[in-house]
Amino acid sequence: MRVWIDQDLCTGDGLCLDHCPDVFVQLEDGIAYVAEQGVALNDPGGAGSLAWVPLKNYQSVVDAAEACPGECIFIEMASPVAGELRPTA
Ligand code: SF4
Repeated sequence: MRVWIDQDLCTGDGLCLDHCPDVFVQLEDGIAYVAEQGVALNDPGGAGSLAWVPLKNYQSVVDAAEACPGECIFIEMASPVAGELRPTA
């Protein structure tokens, strides 16, 4: 599973951080970004803004996407062959 945020729609309320602080971070601009292994991917719209989600965070990321008032958290399910090799724990 990979996830990204459309920062143009983010309200900055921080609900996603409440659900999953391992994957979502809020930077100085007050907008939420995804993070991978603790590193914020702050290149909105770029290929580098798509984060792999650790297996243990799958449910909380889904919960965050469902709760997001901006409806701007997007989840992509990777193919089982290529995608599941990358996530850690
Ligand atoms: S829950 Fe959605 S709108 Fe709120 S900070 Fe996170 S990404 Fe932005």
